Amino acid sequence: MSYPKILIYRDKLKKNVENLVNICRSNGINVGGVTKAFCANRDLAKIYVEGGVQFLADSRIENIKKIKDINVPKLMLRLPMLSEIDEIVKYSDISLNSEVETIQLLSNSAIKQNKIHSIILMIDLGDLREGIFDESKIYDSVEKILNFKGIKLLGLGTNLTCYGGVIPSRDNLNRLVEIGENIEKKFNIKLEVLSGGNSSSLHLIESGEMPDKINQLRLGEALILGRETAFGNQIKNTYNDCFKLAAQIIELKEKPSVPIGEIGMDAFGRKPKFTDKGNRKRAICAIGKQDVEIDDLIPMDGNILLIGESSDHLIIDVTDSDKEYKIGDEVLFKLNYGSILKLMTSQYVSKKII
Ligand SMILES: *Cc1c(COP(=O)(O)O)cnc(C)c1O
Repeated sequence: MSYPKILIYRDKLKKNVENLVNICRSNGINVGGVTKAFCANRDLAKIYVEGGVQFLADSRIENIKKIKDINVPKLMLRLPMLSEIDEIVKYSDISLNSEVETIQLLSNSAIKQNKIHSIILMIDLGDLREGIFDESKIYDSVEKILNFKGIKLLGLGTNLTCYGGVIPSRDNLNRLVEIGENIEKKFNIKLEVLSGGNSSSLHLIESGEMPDKINQLRLGEALILGRETAFGNQIKNTYNDCFKLAAQIIELKEKPSVPIGEIGMDAFGRKPKFTDKGNRKRAICAIGKQDVEIDDLIPMDGNILLIGESSDHLIIDVTDSDKEYKIGDEVLFKLNYGSILKLMTSQYVSKKII
């Protein structure tokens, strides 16, 4: 298979999923497997389902379409655009929402398509991305939503630690629980779902602080990297190397560490700075900023230094390595969430599941 390629280890990924599903399940929490970091690659989505996730979730309808025939419910994570209402109703069973105007259009479309579309109403508990912020407006919205014939109000949800970096706590998630109880009383309805956030909420299970009534989490990074994302701790019995990058060396030469001549701007309009370390053995790997950011790569060979990157070239320093690299050798990198997202999105990177 051609380079660069992203290597994905099936067994490790499945173990991560199984482990997290078990942890959540034993705390009364259903897990939605979030597929957006790998563009809802069908084979990987299937591993999620084999690992036990109750539903699949993605932020883009193009991705949800790709997995339409995998037989679990699909949740649309990003608030629907008005330009995609019909597709949201057609391809997703549930969507997260915060705008009554959008929900009304979803209802109209659902009636037209002979369906009932489920929604989870998003509440902003302070992170300041999506969700209704003012409590009184929540009840006003629910009142309107309950009149929409094509919509089922499945429950409430929240999303934290995405824009504002706010950490989920017993206090802020208890507010979600209380608002849910108020709605149930006020409107004499039952809410099936309280969706308590993403991978940043997992630490509350570990510490025993998760409110009992929270019964759903939407997990992406935790499944992929085995990390809770409030503090960045690795979760026991999970892997952080389910995804690796292999790039190929196309030039290997000894060169000075400081460019020769007057320094202007680099390919991205920044003025670079250099430290003189004398002559160094430098390798160019055939991958670049179009595919991945250099700061998101972690060389598996700990003696490799990352030097720089332009659109299609990654320059590394292999002087201190114990390995005698040659032209054509592959260089392996461990990846973080950002680099997995970009590499899986790049059409220039092949994807190999092993
Ligand atoms: C991306 C996303 C998630 C998953 O987040 P992770 O940190 O990867 O677990 C959950 N919910 C929403 C609304 C999202 O956009």
